Amino acid sequence: MEKRDYYEVLEVPKNATSEEIKKAYRKMAIKYHPDKNPDNKEAEEKFKEAAEAYEVLSNPEKRSRYDQFGFSGLHGQQGFSGMDDIFSHFGDIFSDLFGGGGFGFGGGFSGGRQAQRHVNRGSNLRLRVKLNLSEINEGVKKKVKVNKYVPCPHCEGSGAKDNSFETCPTCNGRGQTVKVQNSIFGQMQTVTTCPNCGGEGKIIKNKCPECQGNGIVKSEEIIELNIPAGVAEGMQLSVRGKGNAGARNGIAGDLIILIEEEKDKNLERDGNDLIYNLFISFPQAALGTTVEIPIIDGTTEIKVPAGTQSGEVIKLRGKGLPELNSYGKGDLLVNVNVWTPRNLNKEEEKIMKSLLESENMNPASDKDKSPFKKFKKFFS
Ligand SMILES: [Zn+2]
Ligand SMILES: [Zn+2]
Repeated sequence: MEKRDYYEVLEVPKNATSEEIKKAYRKMAIKYHPDKNPDNKEAEEKFKEAAEAYEVLSNPEKRSRYDQFGFSGLHGQQGFSGMDDIFSHFGDIFSDLFGGGGFGFGGGFSGGRQAQRHVNRGSNLRLRVKLNLSEINEGVKKKVKVNKYVPCPHCEGSGAKDNSFETCPTCNGRGQTVKVQNSIFGQMQTVTTCPNCGGEGKIIKNKCPECQGNGIVKSEEIIELNIPAGVAEGMQLSVRGKGNAGARNGIAGDLIILIEEEKDKNLERDGNDLIYNLFISFPQAALGTTVEIPIIDGTTEIKVPAGTQSGEVIKLRGKGLPELNSYGKGDLLVNVNVWTPRNLNKEEEKIMKSLLESENMNPASDKDKSPFKKFKKFFS
């Protein structure tokens, strides 16, 4: 199925409030829920599509990145591998609709929450990574040392000394307890996670002394980051499963990379374009000249034509930064500034004075009044 715009999927306007988005998603989710549409592939696809759209648009950070960069702004962020992922955030949105607890609707979600065991999830880690212009241009692999929780090597993450587990007596290993309640809808069964074993169905007999039964210990890990070309200040990339390990063989959190840009001493960034402020002398501007200017990773020569005005922009196509996840490239814009000398010796003063007499020195003689206009020259 072709990927559709998230707003289109949820049938909401671009400026929809988070409440409107939630409402729209709810409507879709109920309409296309697999329980209501058994063996309907199209409904299932629609259901997944809506869940993915909601996942992004309900998260202000992801939404703003999506608004700015489209799907490419979410690079490395989407983790919809299957239905389990969808059901994992179902609880939040439907809890207020169906009164919370562990029960679903229409006899429960197939393969959904009821059957799910509680899994410990490790927390996310955040890491700032500073990149220079050259690294942003090329993309970069960086090795970083991260202090984090890792599975305890002594108990292999189980938390139990010598694998000493016993079945939880409260839930008989099911991990859940069932409560029957009378309500205005009739009798209702609510399934809750077993409070004794936290849903694991088993309890530790003897705790591992190294990790006090948590199954995780503080350590450090060298992680190789693969940062794509074209990232920008403030962007976040997440590396799945590289955050803190989850307790007792749970699921690891993510490592979230926050991109920072090192200021370049010559080039300023404007989106994917780069800007260089070039200063030339008055005779250079009048006679034309060739100058060397800095570019990413080196220098290049550019021609400044005779008669160039201060404020003109020389554009070097494709000498800017690459677009993230695309083949496009920005330009290098050279702002030409004609520098006026502050001190003149006797000789120079005489020359300048004699130039004053010349009709060509008079701006009023210029028919197209270009000194007062900015225009661009295109180089490729
Ligand atoms: Zn241990
Ligand atoms: Zn239990």
